[in-house]
Formats: sequence, structure tokens, C-alpha cells
Amino acid sequence: MMIELKPHTDRFAFIERLKWMGLEALVVGEHRLIIVRGVDKNVHLERFIALPEVAAVLPVKEKFKLASKAVKGQTIIQIKGKTIGGSELFIIAGPCSIESKEQMDFCAELAHAQGAGGLRGGAFKPRTSPYEFQGMGEEGLKILRDAGAKYNLVTVSEVMDASQIDMVASYVDILQVGARNMHNFSLLKELGRVKNPILLKRGFAASYQDLLLAAEYIISAGNPNVILCERGIRTFETHTRNTLDLNAVPALKELTHLPILVDPSHGTGRRSMVLPMARASIAAGADGLAVEVHPNPDRALTDAAQTIGPEAFAVMMREVRKIHSCLEA
Ligand code: PEP
Ligand code: MN
Repeated sequence: MMIELKPHTDRFAFIERLKWMGLEALVVGEHRLIIVRGVDKNVHLERFIALPEVAAVLPVKEKFKLASKAVKGQTIIQIKGKTIGGSELFIIAGPCSIESKEQMDFCAELAHAQGAGGLRGGAFKPRTSPYEFQGMGEEGLKILRDAGAKYNLVTVSEVMDASQIDMVASYVDILQVGARNMHNFSLLKELGRVKNPILLKRGFAASYQDLLLAAEYIISAGNPNVILCERGIRTFETHTRNTLDLNAVPALKELTHLPILVDPSHGTGRRSMVLPMARASIAAGADGLAVEVHPNPDRALTDAAQTIGPEAFAVMMREVRKIHSCLEA
């Protein structure tokens, strides 16, 4: 059960009272919310509502509490004049890996011209093989920051390890947690203490509950600005790199108030499938997309097979905007 306290309540004194009532309580995040454990099903909620410090009692059935739809209608993140989770689409575009200033300047100009609000680029790459390109590191982040600044774009890059958080956060607006790190609980907890929103990608063998509990780690550690990203899961199908699970969009919309983006690039692994799955993602109700785009996709150092070029990106932007405008707000 969750209790929302009235403003200016002394949370710790209230928790002492609950202890005295034989209950265990937990303060979560920076909120006025506390989790109460040990409440017997037969205990009437009125008993808590009657306490003078209590604003509301929220019976949350799910294991994830702060991420649950039961506590909030919708999280809307405002950043650099853009909104994520509101009525606008939020599109993040850019290469898998940052490779050069020219490449990032090109992508930033393209993203801006086509109306995308976010610029992505990996500087620390979680490669399956240690012999593959590992990313440009901090030098790449400076390129990303400068390219994004020219067009007031929201910059996004992956942080792979807790030791990198402060450095990456000093260059980029949104910190990405990759699919391979969704279960890295020490990283998730540390991300709770930063101000930057977190783009949390679904692990390729993670259930919706696993994803939402990963989000719960970040929120309960103090950072409420988590954006979920469906990026495909492993199935028995080998034709595609992953199976883009678009069930995730309406399912997560029912379970959580957090914004949900879809990544049709990693979700398919195939350039020809990015556009149709981008369209389908928006039709399913996603708040936006994260798409790999490169000035010359065949020459991309990483993930070339799933990376689209500038013309395809322009078509994608036009079509997803049309689909979005057909949907009721
Ligand atoms: C990426 O966005 O470049 C990436 C590595 O994604 P994922 O963690 O979803 O594989
Ligand atoms: Mn990639």
C-alpha cells in the first residue's frame, strides 16, 4: 500500500507512528509518498485515511509502486522546450555510434530540419565482441554536445557504468541505459541521484514487470524522469535481429504513467523494416521513437544494416506525423 502525505508533514515522525502500529514503512524518492508494508488485507483503508497527515491512500497491487499507473496519470518530461509523454511526438534520431564532427553536424541539421527533438549517438558502445569498435568515448560526447547545441536538440547517449555517470551527464541531456544493462541494479540506483532524464531500454529477455522494476530502482532512488524504450526481444525468429514487441506499448500504457518510446532500428535489425515498424509504433500509441540515422548508412561503423539514410528518415518523419495526427489526443 502507498500513502501520500499532506505537504509539510514530518515523514519520519509519521513513520515512527506507523511502527508503533506494528507496520513497516519505507520512504521512497523525493516524494511525499511512503510505502507501507505488513498491512493485513482485512485492515480497512479508512483507518489510514483518517490519520491527519494523510492526503490519500493508494492501494497499489503491483510490485512496482512509483512506476505504477495507480499513483499518477502520466509523466510529462519538459526539456529544452520539448515535451516527452505529452501530446507531441518526441523523435530521437542519430547514428548508432558517434564517428566524427561532420557526421554529427549532418545528423543534427537533418534532425532539426525534419522536426525531431532529440539527437542520439553512442560514445561508449556495449558491443557483444570486445574486438569491435567500442566508441569514441569522451571526445565523442563533446562532438554530440556541440552538434546538439547548434539546433537546441535534446542529446542522448548511453552510460554503461556507474563510474561514467557524472562525466556523461556533464555533456548530454538524457542518459540512456542499454538493453544489456537494464539489470545492472547498481547503475540504476546511481542514476537515481542525477537530474537528467533516463532513457531505459528493455532488456532483450525482460518482461514488462522486469522493465518496470528496473524503472522503480531509478525512481525510488530519487529520479522520477524515466522514459521507457521498447527495442525488441529475443525470440526463436532469426530473420530479424530482434522481435519488436509492440504489445509492450498498450500494455505499458495500462501499467505505468512513464512515457514510452519505440526503437524500430534495434527492434528489427533491418533497414527496410524500420519505416513500417516506426509507423506501427506510433499507431500503437508510443510517445515517440529512437531511430538510427546516418549520412551514409552503408558506411556506419556500427549497426549499418539497421541504419537508415536522410531520405528514408524524411519519409519516416512525414508518415509518422500523419499517423499521429489521426489519433485522438
Ligand atoms: C543503442 O541504442 O545503440 C543500443 C546499443 O541499444 P540496445 O541497448 O537497445 O541494444
Ligand atoms: Mn545501435
